[in-house]
Amino acid sequence: MTIASQSIEEFKECLYQMQEARKLVTKEILTTGHINAEKVQIFKNTLEKMRDERTSKNHIRDIHSRGTTFGINIQDEIKGLQVVILSVAIKNFYFQKDHEFLDAFALESEKEESFNDRLKLSDLPGLLSKFSKDRESFDAEVMKCRAFLLDLIDTQVTGKKPLFITDWDGTMKDYCSQYATNLQPAYSAIVMGVFARHFTRAFAVLTAGPLRHPGILDLTAIPIDGPVLFSGSWGREWWIHGRRVVHDDGIPEEGTVAIGQLYEQLEEILHEGEFVQFALVGSGVQKKVDRLTLGVQTVFGQVPEDLSARYIDAVRERIHRVDPNSQYLVLENCSPLEIEVCVHSSGAVWNKGDGVAALVESNNDSLKIGKVCVAGDTASDVPMLQKAAEENPDEVRALFVNVSMELQKTIVNIVGDTSRTCFISCPDVAHAAFAQIICELAA
Ligand SMILES: [Mg+2]
Repeated sequence: MTIASQSIEEFKECLYQMQEARKLVTKEILTTGHINAEKVQIFKNTLEKMRDERTSKNHIRDIHSRGTTFGINIQDEIKGLQVVILSVAIKNFYFQKDHEFLDAFALESEKEESFNDRLKLSDLPGLLSKFSKDRESFDAEVMKCRAFLLDLIDTQVTGKKPLFITDWDGTMKDYCSQYATNLQPAYSAIVMGVFARHFTRAFAVLTAGPLRHPGILDLTAIPIDGPVLFSGSWGREWWIHGRRVVHDDGIPEEGTVAIGQLYEQLEEILHEGEFVQFALVGSGVQKKVDRLTLGVQTVFGQVPEDLSARYIDAVRERIHRVDPNSQYLVLENCSPLEIEVCVHSSGAVWNKGDGVAALVESNNDSLKIGKVCVAGDTASDVPMLQKAAEENPDEVRALFVNVSMELQKTIVNIVGDTSRTCFISCPDVAHAAFAQIICELAA
């Protein structure tokens, strides 16, 4: 007997429910230092579901919606699944990362072990090294990153803990084929949360994607009112102390209204059979403060070209309905993978540097105090570094992931001192270094 394919809504719901459960697990570990093994049942259920017969051996899963069936590649979701499965023998590598890691926190021993004992026991740096492409260079990068971070958190001269501002995708989280289901693993959430709490005065995530529906607040495994601050739309919207703070300077109100109306129109066309899969293609549908970002093709080129073209036409047609005189909205072809519908802005173009300024203002902080570390992986993250360097040239630091030699040069020039820069090749290096420092220093 075959099981009917899963609907797109069920598929997303299933993953988001699991991510909420993952936040609870992270919260429990951050608070008590361990987890109750019973709480991890949902992960086991989700994993079993993701790997049932509706997913083929090459990780293509059939999804259906209103008469259309299409395959999506869920290899990344399976990799990242919070494998807390304690009783199932797991063959897959990536499951093992979290499985082995969280196992250390679910020990049902009589001894009252501290969080640090358990973190040491999990040997996260060793585990991540084991799964890296090249153990030797991974370990060397972790050593380098550890030294860089130790210098960052040293408060002897400044007397203040540092500010840590980071991009998300590509910097703290590996890229994934579907933005909407790129969920953060638990090991990442736990070491990031503890590092933030112990060693920084603020640890802020500044991403280009939205805050919600889905956005960074849905995709992270860190409790959202916990030790890490989150923002979306290049730092135009922040989640601070339990509320959404929006910086919409330069955006005409009519434009905001038009974006909202267009988003509703798109919800409609995404429910009309033919275009359903675009809710999950690449970027999916992301509603940001001043624009909508729409995925039109996957990195694997799985969407037929004519379907993609028809979708773009349908979007154009809806833009025309909402804004018949083209007063407020403009369609931009950003890349073969996505298009953006933006509000005409009245003034200068907002970048992530403005996002950093918005953060320190909303959080009553200053870039001039103590040390400031900016982490990123693309040229769009450089304005954050420039902003920090302008305000605090002597204590700015840069941690960049997998960047070209050319971008490295730019970064070194901005910081003005190679000893305050660190270049690594993947997010796991930073996670391993966080874990080492926590084990060494956090009491
Ligand atoms: Mg990035």
